[in-house]
Amino acid sequence: MALTIFSKILSGEIPCHKVYEDDRVLSFLDIFPLSRGHTLVIPKAPAVTIDQLPDEDAAAIGLALPRICRAVLAATQAPAYNLLQNNGQLAHQAVLHVHFHIIPRFDDGSGLGIHWRPGKLDPAAGAALAADIAARLD
Ligand code: 5GP
Repeated sequence: MALTIFSKILSGEIPCHKVYEDDRVLSFLDIFPLSRGHTLVIPKAPAVTIDQLPDEDAAAIGLALPRICRAVLAATQAPAYNLLQNNGQLAHQAVLHVHFHIIPRFDDGSGLGIHWRPGKLDPAAGAALAADIAARLD
């Protein structure tokens, strides 16, 4: 995969405001925060999207995320927060290295704006689709 700005942060070529690091995970403040405390959590493994992430790195992220969320909440006193994880440019992924956003939500309007456009799941189509997805799990 091509080098990204996060590769340069991982190598130390570009500085960051680090909040957490272990063998497989790095976490640091987003440089263009949507709200105070907007934090990124990335694997050190060079995967572009989360479906490409090896199990060990996914497990390490899974362990680290709740801990970092708790610390962000404690530091910012945010009453709520969003976890965002974009995969693919069509899905608003700008940096092509897996990352989770922890975005505190305050009652001042800062934070993640969400435009939610729900459809309606047809029961028969839903049953077929769920079975198809389940059958493809590796
Ligand atoms: P995406 O849209 O790919 O999910 O989000 C990428 C995020 O990376 C953005 O929120 C952006 O502000 C952040 N970002 C981009 N470049 C840098 C950087 O050099 N340092 C830090 N700390 N964050 C960055």
